[in-house]
Amino acid sequence: MQRKYLVYNFSGELDDISHLFPNERLGRIAAIIRKHAQEVDIIDRANLLDLIDFGKKYMKNLGELSFYDSNKLYESRLEKEAGNILKGGYDVIFMNLWHGSGFKFSIDLSNIIKKSNPGIKIYGVGQKVDWFKEHILKLSNNSLDGLIIGLGYNAIEGIVLNEKVNNINNLILYVNGEIRENEKTPIDVDDYPVALYDGNIYRNIEHKIPIYSITLSNQACPNRCVFCIRPENYGRLNKARKTERVIEELEQLNSNYNAAHFRIEDSTPPPNSLNELSEFILNSELHGKVKFSGFSRIDTNAPGTFSLLKEAGFVALFFGIESLDDENLIRLRKGITYEQIKHTIAEVPLSGIHTVGSFIFPIPGETKQSMENTLQRVKELKPYLSSLLVLPAGVYPHTEWGKYPAKYGIQLADDYVEKSVIYPLKYLLPFKYWPPFPFKYKIMDKEIENINFGYIAKVYQKFVDKVTNEFHMPAIPDYYFLLADFIGKDYVTTTKTIIHYMIDRDYPAIGKLFSKSII
Ligand code: SF4
Repeated sequence: MQRKYLVYNFSGELDDISHLFPNERLGRIAAIIRKHAQEVDIIDRANLLDLIDFGKKYMKNLGELSFYDSNKLYESRLEKEAGNILKGGYDVIFMNLWHGSGFKFSIDLSNIIKKSNPGIKIYGVGQKVDWFKEHILKLSNNSLDGLIIGLGYNAIEGIVLNEKVNNINNLILYVNGEIRENEKTPIDVDDYPVALYDGNIYRNIEHKIPIYSITLSNQACPNRCVFCIRPENYGRLNKARKTERVIEELEQLNSNYNAAHFRIEDSTPPPNSLNELSEFILNSELHGKVKFSGFSRIDTNAPGTFSLLKEAGFVALFFGIESLDDENLIRLRKGITYEQIKHTIAEVPLSGIHTVGSFIFPIPGETKQSMENTLQRVKELKPYLSSLLVLPAGVYPHTEWGKYPAKYGIQLADDYVEKSVIYPLKYLLPFKYWPPFPFKYKIMDKEIENINFGYIAKVYQKFVDKVTNEFHMPAIPDYYFLLADFIGKDYVTTTKTIIHYMIDRDYPAIGKLFSKSII
């Protein structure tokens, strides 16, 4: 059966520069559709041409609207977008769902499309699905026909092959008014074609920043950190890709699109996969032509790993450290100790690779003592860390914290689920200006009744101030080191410039910054 497909993304306010990178997941979905000789378009509005076209005024208005609010300006563009999509004659839409204003826009867009043409099938994909799963389906008011969990390429293929939806694994759907979560099965990414980035399918891709994503596995994680949704949705059986296939993909991207900067997406790369990738790079034509950043585990690096990675082109590595207090590490089920952290973090910069340490502060059960312990050890690690990122603990429904809150001193609001799913994360605003969380947790030995969002924000700020003002440590995600390399500037200036432009919604200036590649 011949059907026409749309893969759609609108990330809303540009609060993270990585939205402007070509989206590998969308590209792979399109490639699976093309493999079965069906027609497909990718409309990914997170590109500089479309952002300029939406305009500063529109984006500001969108960013300020809460989920259930609307106004004329917002609706004007929403209706125009729905009209364009309906004119496109699509039978099936895969709607990428992100948080914040992009999520609102995508759900409202799905509602309009579905009301005008109930025959169009719309499936939600992407990170927001991973975080909230069936709660998104409930919220969507029947505008979404289903949700695809994790990478879910098997579910995409099942839909394209028109299989019975009840038999498609990694799919959540409504059956007779009831939510049904089909069986979850781990996938093997090498069973599916690599992402399509051709401009005739991936529209306006030339107006994105050419930092390409690469995956080394099915992104499952064998660990069980209490705050993380990954093992639940991607599974715990990590299936590594064949390194030869990864190299082929890199070579194709390099020769077809002149791609030279790559971010590795696996939050837990399979053991030894970064070494093996690096060895292959050193023995290929890619050596000296490519740069990488990505995640790394503290405890899976053989001696000599980092100098090998540096030689292969790695510029920065991101480590999820979360806390440096021994008790906190145990309670988070991180599976690593301070000794291991210190050993690894001290080794990375010797190779010339920048080290990014990511922390959660405060965590439920944080005490004055655990804060002091962490800060003391941050001071010890300061000479080795190029960057330190901190976010307060978030509680998601399908995590250990979300499932058993009382065990961890967490109190969920009565409307926790409803509020969480529409909670507008605002990465560019200081945390104290975020809307209150629909949960709170016991910290600093205070009774939970005496804790509110303002107090959590105050404790967070105290920690951040110490790191920023006393230790003088910047907060720079790993991919900013790639961007700095790309434009040939230092990473601190690059980060400040990009964040300044994002806050100003100055999309033309971002385009100019990357003008050697963006039209
Ligand atoms: S935080 Fe990282 S290591 Fe822990 S479960 Fe999630 S992906 Fe795995």
